[in-house]
Amino acid sequence: MDALFSLYNTMGYKIHLKHNSPIDMGQEPLPAIEVLGLLNIKDMGRVVAVKINGILRDTSATVDSNAELEPVLIDSDEGVDILRHSTSHVMAMAVKELFPGVKVAIGPTIENGFYYDFDYQRPFKEDDLPLIEAKMEEIIRHDLPFRREEMSSEEAMDLFRSQDETYKTEIIEDLDEKMVSLYTHGSFRDLCRGPHIPSTGMIKAFKLIKTAGAYWRGDENRAMLSRIYGVAFSSKKDLKRYLDRLEEAKKRDHIKLGKQLDLFSTYEEIGAGMIVWHPKGALLRHIIEEFEVEEHLKRGYDLVKGPQILKTTLWEKSGHFDNYRENMYFTEIDEQSYGIKPMNCLSHMLIYRSKIRSYRELPKRYFELGLVHRHERSGVLHGLSRVREFTQDDAHILCTPEQLNGEIKEILDFIKEMMDIFGFDYEVEVSTRPEKSIGSDEDWERGTKALMEAVDDLSIEYRINQGEGAFYGPKIDIKLKDALDRSWQCATVQCDFTLPERFDLSYIDNEGRKQRPVMLHRVILGSIERFIGVLIEQHAGAFPTWLAPVQARVLTVTDRCIPFGEKVLKGLIDADIRAEADFRNEKLGMKVREAQTQKIPYVLIIGDKEAEKAAVTVRIRGGKNLPLMTEGEFIKRVHENCRQRRLQL
Ligand SMILES: [Zn+2]
Ligand SMILES: [Zn+2]
Repeated sequence: MDALFSLYNTMGYKIHLKHNSPIDMGQEPLPAIEVLGLLNIKDMGRVVAVKINGILRDTSATVDSNAELEPVLIDSDEGVDILRHSTSHVMAMAVKELFPGVKVAIGPTIENGFYYDFDYQRPFKEDDLPLIEAKMEEIIRHDLPFRREEMSSEEAMDLFRSQDETYKTEIIEDLDEKMVSLYTHGSFRDLCRGPHIPSTGMIKAFKLIKTAGAYWRGDENRAMLSRIYGVAFSSKKDLKRYLDRLEEAKKRDHIKLGKQLDLFSTYEEIGAGMIVWHPKGALLRHIIEEFEVEEHLKRGYDLVKGPQILKTTLWEKSGHFDNYRENMYFTEIDEQSYGIKPMNCLSHMLIYRSKIRSYRELPKRYFELGLVHRHERSGVLHGLSRVREFTQDDAHILCTPEQLNGEIKEILDFIKEMMDIFGFDYEVEVSTRPEKSIGSDEDWERGTKALMEAVDDLSIEYRINQGEGAFYGPKIDIKLKDALDRSWQCATVQCDFTLPERFDLSYIDNEGRKQRPVMLHRVILGSIERFIGVLIEQHAGAFPTWLAPVQARVLTVTDRCIPFGEKVLKGLIDADIRAEADFRNEKLGMKVREAQTQKIPYVLIIGDKEAEKAAVTVRIRGGKNLPLMTEGEFIKRVHENCRQRRLQL
């Protein structure tokens, strides 16, 4: 039987073949790698796997007749993912050889790399990593081939049981399949779907990054495993670029900078995921929140405020109790159960319902800087990014169905303006109905369509996130991009037809009939906590002048200059500039350096010359001195910068 192959030219390959013309490969079906060899494919060394009829397979997989074959190159998205996963196997082998008695759990790929979870008598530490890396290099040098085998689940269970690999046996049990596949390279055999790279020698650029504790299956009641994270790339150049960025990210880390700039802290004795704001951090929050209130009032929002705890019966009515209970905290007052609010919607609904509404009043836009509490697993808590208590810049808009499109577009404009001001690019995603949800099919369709139409009307590009909507409606998610090209969830716009129904909200239309309003939930910055975390990292703690908790610091050269220094300081404070003084009898160089560490935008140096001329020497963050100017000129400069909310000094 003749086997027919056609080769796709998708990777910029120069293939000496006519597109889609079948090639006679002889009598026997061959492994994919041999077929590619016969076809004289260039860069065979970069082929990590193949696609046979569109399905990813090992290069050793046999190609049947009439199949479509496509090489998968190491630097393609799929290729590098296979490379990363294969590197996790190599790491597991290295760990097993170095630490007898260790058990292996799972080793998936993640963005830029992979991890593997191990169960060992002690947790692995950063100090172990060089040793493991050296062992991995050795395995890579030996260029061990990856071999695939298939066997019955019972056989595989016996095999792993004999090695005391209890996590593997548990996985096979849960898989509940007749046959499973295993991959072996050298002494290491792992349960795996594959595919894998042909041999370990293809791994050219990897690095182990860190260790962490991780519960087996993410379950706090199961064993605590030791996770090792690594990264792998198709070239040394890509690895270097990544490591450089990681280094930069460390410098910008908001937890580190939060401490250095004295913005916030967390305390084990207070509880995980709870932020304590220090004076400068609280001031930064205040500046952002005050700005937000102004911007909302300007756009026709009403400022409202609801209580922190509401009766559980109300959460039952809204659907939160059924759909969101595991993220909520409850308490009791006078034997009555109360839920601490994880969202701000309910009070806003009651405000709307507090009187009869006419269509003339709509849309109603209720805005609240709402403090919410949500239960997050302790393992995911991280600095300001994942917390259990946070404030949302939350609003609920109640409008007629005809107003929906316009309202969504206004929100998207609002988001754009805010992101420009804070200096962020962003991407837009539309998330559709999740598995766990309430509401009718018709409403979900209507809501999803409304969101997509609004985005389309504004010619904004977006991605669809299948099944990622809120339980009560579809949503638009805004992922902002920071200076290191990382993306962060901030703004959302969510459509909700259910809550108005459940709370029997209505308005009287122009013909005197009772109608149901539509509701939008939306946040712009999202969690203020997380936003500040992102902001710190974006600006590496060097905030634009209008946001900086301390905008200027006045430094004296000698004690003689203190009286003039005091006069300058008072002048700044009177002009509403957030200023402080450093009049200590210390070397000027040291005082300047300290101000730099605090990333204060402007340092005003007061020496004899300045006192004599009644002027100030201004050193701007980054080290440049401005020409001698009067205090009035400096104040004008700062005011102008703040008025424009400039990102630069
Ligand atoms: Zn694998
Ligand atoms: Zn809401």
